[in-house]
Amino acid sequence: MSSQAEKKLPFNQLPLSPQIQRALADLKFEYCSPIQARSLPYSLAGHDVLGKAQTGTGKTAAFLIAVFEDLLKNPPPEERYAGEARALVIAPTRELVVQIAKDAAEIGKYLDFEVHTVVGGMDFNKQLKKLQSSHIDLLVATPGRMLDFCERGVIFLDQLEVLVIDEADRMLDMGFIPQVKRIVRMAPKKTHRQTLLFSATFSEDVLRLSEQWMFEPASVEIEPERVATESVKQTIYMVAGDEKFRLLGNLLEEPGVESLMVFANRRDQCRDLHEQLRRKGFKVGLLSGEIPQGKRLRTLDDFKNGKLQALVATDVAGRGIHIDDVTHVVNFTLPEEPEDYVHRIGRTGRAGNSGISISFACEDDAFRLPAIEELLGSKLKCEIPPEHLLR
Ligand code: AMP
Repeated sequence: MSSQAEKKLPFNQLPLSPQIQRALADLKFEYCSPIQARSLPYSLAGHDVLGKAQTGTGKTAAFLIAVFEDLLKNPPPEERYAGEARALVIAPTRELVVQIAKDAAEIGKYLDFEVHTVVGGMDFNKQLKKLQSSHIDLLVATPGRMLDFCERGVIFLDQLEVLVIDEADRMLDMGFIPQVKRIVRMAPKKTHRQTLLFSATFSEDVLRLSEQWMFEPASVEIEPERVATESVKQTIYMVAGDEKFRLLGNLLEEPGVESLMVFANRRDQCRDLHEQLRRKGFKVGLLSGEIPQGKRLRTLDDFKNGKLQALVATDVAGRGIHIDDVTHVVNFTLPEEPEDYVHRIGRTGRAGNSGISISFACEDDAFRLPAIEELLGSKLKCEIPPEHLLR
């Protein structure tokens, strides 16, 4: 983030409340990241913002700051009903919701706002009790469970002031748009709320949704190739398909490979990889949609705390998770969508650290390289792995 020094905007030059300024100072956020610098002037002025930004760019803080400032500026009426949400963030995965709520707790630590989370797969009754126990200033939710609570009359959106839709492109990919549409329909109409929508890509579908859901939005973006390439050293190893596992095992034995995320395209590939690595005696965890939520969160914690050296992940599960010290990312298979390559390698090289990404290209997936290079806007150098890594 510091690399885009040319447009450094310090937070203290923005019209932010002292409580937010203080929280940002505690977090050691001094300057806006590019997406923050470009979106906050609009969002703080109450405009809708369509933001093109991926995980790792600081988009979460970008929308949370705008949400909190709006809630501060517009105090709730004396009489409030239980279940009425003032701000809502919808995100595609449980991990992302948990992370956003954690960021909200940090950025909102000097504010007296009630933040609730609603996610599928975790204790329904516990979430219900919490929702009924206090007002809802900010709600962070996955679409399915959110809709469920709305339809049961637990949550009401008719007083909603700010709606944030995070990772809209991923929600499309995951088939959540019908649910999101029903949720949006329960909110005040677009001229009577503020809508912030973030997406890593502006596909036609995303743009169409933004037209439906947003009122004269300011469209802001940061150049994608910067995100990917600046702080990550990218290597492509050309190998035979049946050498990939040996290569991965040897890489894990290399000095300096402290925390490695390995991505494969399919769940069954991830499951197999995890099992094989485990049998070889590596401390490794699995992050995939089929793993129960509680276990996934524990795995993530173990990885963050260094109890696990490696984490095998699918694209969906690996997205949006925040771990700042991933030293290596391995693409065991090259992703079908070039954007996923950018997301994957963006798991390393975060928060001012540098990172290493190593992609294994074999006879079955090397054909995906040109599309990735096109997205990156630069050529990737393909190499034969050093011999000791194939032994
Ligand atoms: P995100 O794109 O929301 O996933 O954020 C990526 C990481 O950047 C998170 O770990 C944030 O805590 C961190 N971050 C966000 N904004 C800033 C900032 N202005 N300065 C430094 N770090 C930041």
